[in-house]
Amino acid sequence: MKNKTNQVEVIHKTPKLRKNTYWEKLPDGRYYINNKDSSNPLIVSEYVVHFLELATGMNTIKQICEKAGLSVNNSNVEKIHELFYVTLYSKGVIETEESKTKKKKSYINLSFTIIPEKSVIFISKYLAFLFHRKVVIISLLFSLFVLLWSSVHFLNTRPTLTGINNFSSILVTILLILVFFLHEFGHASALYYFEEVPRKIGIGLYLFAPVLFADVTDSWKLNNKKRMVVDFGGLYFQFIISCFYLFIFFISAHNDFLIAAFFSFIIGVLNLNPFIKMDGYWLLSDFLNITDLKQKAQKETLFFIQCIFKERIQCKIQQIAFVLYYVFNLLFTIAFISYMLVWNVELFKQIPANIKTILLAILEGRYHNINIILIESLILPLVVIFLVLKVLIKLLDKSFFKPYKVKINGIKP
Ligand SMILES: [Zn+2]
Repeated sequence: MKNKTNQVEVIHKTPKLRKNTYWEKLPDGRYYINNKDSSNPLIVSEYVVHFLELATGMNTIKQICEKAGLSVNNSNVEKIHELFYVTLYSKGVIETEESKTKKKKSYINLSFTIIPEKSVIFISKYLAFLFHRKVVIISLLFSLFVLLWSSVHFLNTRPTLTGINNFSSILVTILLILVFFLHEFGHASALYYFEEVPRKIGIGLYLFAPVLFADVTDSWKLNNKKRMVVDFGGLYFQFIISCFYLFIFFISAHNDFLIAAFFSFIIGVLNLNPFIKMDGYWLLSDFLNITDLKQKAQKETLFFIQCIFKERIQCKIQQIAFVLYYVFNLLFTIAFISYMLVWNVELFKQIPANIKTILLAILEGRYHNINIILIESLILPLVVIFLVLKVLIKLLDKSFFKPYKVKINGIKP
């Protein structure tokens, strides 16, 4: 009886495309569908697009069934309902009657735009030439030359790390901020080079750490090799600019450029960590051509646990790699979050002292006392307070509305 009422309800539902949904035909004949607000694209066959065109909000599922030339029976109605309200809905492509103002969810929390889409496109247009084969070779040769020069130089001078061990200059802060932004433009202009449109550049919290990100959702239209270029784009720019800083250090002997280059190299290497969603993660994901490596590893791990209990199913060696990856991923995530939380607590304790330092520096004109750590140690606690408030509001929201799971896969920190 219950089933029958459900069937009647289902048949009268009127699926409607959400505003800002678009699709594009890919070279292989399939279609790329995305909603600009949820940025969680999917690739479907032409057959599905036909159904999307019927989702005007005026057609009931029964009418859609008829217009698509299918007979109106339980099985077909169920299939169409599942297509709209499970597959497409989870991607943020379909509006639902219950909730028309759902917000997107991303693995980067509390993000806000720093550089809007228009400006990102404008700047990427001028930076995209750096991905031409010849330019890549020239810039890598230049970087290699600078690196060789520095190895010879440092082997002769043998500098101690004490000189590098501080951020005390405002110039270092500015140089590093420039590196971070150029890194994001590296992702954006790589995408532009492949004739797809980059979106905004923003800042957000990932595992309680502040990160800059470039929204390159449309990279999902590219094949995995081109996606790897987009993944590498950030580090490619970062590498070139770090070498350029080194070069300036050699010709000017200005120590700040050396310090900025040094930190930029370290941050670049850390970015290759494949166990959290930094560049290394997306590189590995795209290298293996798996949409979301963590999700896949999680599935395989659950399957593996079932394997152990039910000896009937045979385990594959490949599966063990996924299980190991997942275990490392989990351990790393827990360690990282714990570290960030402890650090955050420390920052909360230091707020009064830090405000005093900054105020004194400004009042007495000692601007060199303001450095990136000091600024970050004031901004971060505020961001965390916002995040906690946001989580609380979401929890309250959840008790009234059904959870809506949409995530962005295309964001590159
Ligand atoms: Zn990156």
